[in-house]
Amino acid sequence: TLTAGVVAVQGDVEEHVAAIERAADERGLEANVYEISESGLAPDCDLLALPGGESTTISRLLHSEGIAPEIRDHVAAGKPLFATCAGLIVASSDAGDDRVDELGLVDVTVQRNAFGRQKDSFEAPLSVDGLADPFPAVFIRAPVIDEVGDAAVLATWDGRPVAIRDGPVVATSFHPELTLDSRVHGLALFENDDATLPALECDRPDR
Ligand code: GLN
Repeated sequence: TLTAGVVAVQGDVEEHVAAIERAADERGLEANVYEISESGLAPDCDLLALPGGESTTISRLLHSEGIAPEIRDHVAAGKPLFATCAGLIVASSDAGDDRVDELGLVDVTVQRNAFGRQKDSFEAPLSVDGLADPFPAVFIRAPVIDEVGDAAVLATWDGRPVAIRDGPVVATSFHPELTLDSRVHGLALFENDDATLPALECDRPDR
């Protein structure tokens, strides 16, 4: 059984819990999904999600609750992390906002709310590396990714990167948790070749 955690200081936590449960279910995997709102829980998780919401609030609470270093340790151990929208902003190396204390886990520079007013919220069919068919991507006051360092671009929209892989971390400026399509969660958390999934390995019959 996999242990999954959704960082739950602010944002669309329940939607990520449901999406991870669906993605596990689709693979016939058992997963216990916990909401991580205090320190001491993330170290037990095989995989983590960092939701969308309000990045300055999420950043402040992550640090004050002592969850931030646990997320860094999780990624340093090679375990998968999926960050969406505000989660991407918090996980980035530079969010261009003093109120965000970046985790530096995704080597990109972002600008908050930079997709522009008329594009504050929209849905677009997106080609994503690793998915056979377009993904219905929901953008809500999404950050623009300005610069990509040592990381791979998995999808672009309007010429801009909107999905990134940096080692065991996958991050999107859109919100896969807000649709019933859990393929991006699957890609980031269950089929992440750049990450280690200890519980899955132990479930193999040859062990
Ligand atoms: N605009 C939000 C921020 O900058 C992110 C939006 C989202 O997560 N939907 O924090």
